Amino acid sequence: MSLQINDRMLFPQGRRKAFTLSYDDGITQDRRLIAMLDKYGVKATFNLNPGLFGQHGTVAAGKKEVPHIKVTAEEAAQLYAGHEVAAHGQYHSCMVGMDSVRCVEEILESRKGLEKLLGRPVTGFAYAFGAYDQTTLAAMAACGISYGRTITSTHKFEIPGNFLTWDPTCHHNDETIFDLAEEFLSDGFYFSLLSPAKLFYIWGHSYEFDQCDNWDHMEKLVKMVAGRDDVWYATNGEIQAYTEAYRRLIYSADSAVAYNPSAIPVYLGGTFTKEFIMVPPGGTARLVPPIDM
Ligand SMILES: [Zn+2]
Repeated sequence: MSLQINDRMLFPQGRRKAFTLSYDDGITQDRRLIAMLDKYGVKATFNLNPGLFGQHGTVAAGKKEVPHIKVTAEEAAQLYAGHEVAAHGQYHSCMVGMDSVRCVEEILESRKGLEKLLGRPVTGFAYAFGAYDQTTLAAMAACGISYGRTITSTHKFEIPGNFLTWDPTCHHNDETIFDLAEEFLSDGFYFSLLSPAKLFYIWGHSYEFDQCDNWDHMEKLVKMVAGRDDVWYATNGEIQAYTEAYRRLIYSADSAVAYNPSAIPVYLGGTFTKEFIMVPPGGTARLVPPIDM
């Protein structure tokens, strides 16, 4: 009896691993982080508050007090080229308990500010303080936001079912991070209902490396995960857009053929086979036949 239809999402070129980073607040410590990421060829998404560009301050949050200086609009346009810029609210406001109109204002103004700077649509978002409620989610959808990142660690490698509540794998200071990295890089059997492909998603603030004096910790992690043919190094937005293209595929009634109405090539395979196919943009492809189990 055939149990397995090989219609599960793989990453581009049939890869089964993707690595992404998400860093908040648009601060001057991002310069050092970006230099490190560029050295190793790793991609990240940076979440900015355009209403606070150039603001000077410090941050402690129970740890060592360090500078919290927001980059200027002029620097942001240059500094983050090569990575993704996403919104983090116009003024870094906590939207929990906020009414719809003010949520819309906070989201839409941050989109407009960043779009003016970059000249392209900005539909990614990271919730300030990781906080949201049902009103926030409705406002996010109404404002055309395609994903919203939380700060809830999953310690897993799942593709999110709902991108408006995208929980990361963990924070960069998570004590299990090197165990997770090893598990991510291993080619051992991995089962997930949504996809046999693994997504390792780290988030944080670059000022925390100054606070904890642990830039070497981050470099060790990035070096460990970087430079591998079997990992897709992508921004948050690239992963969301790719997954969206996968979810738009249309299948023949006998599940043998997939049609791809999007402009992105989509790769399909299964948990129990190493074979995969590519469904071309605007075209069809025949799925890897089911195996008898
Ligand atoms: Zn923040």
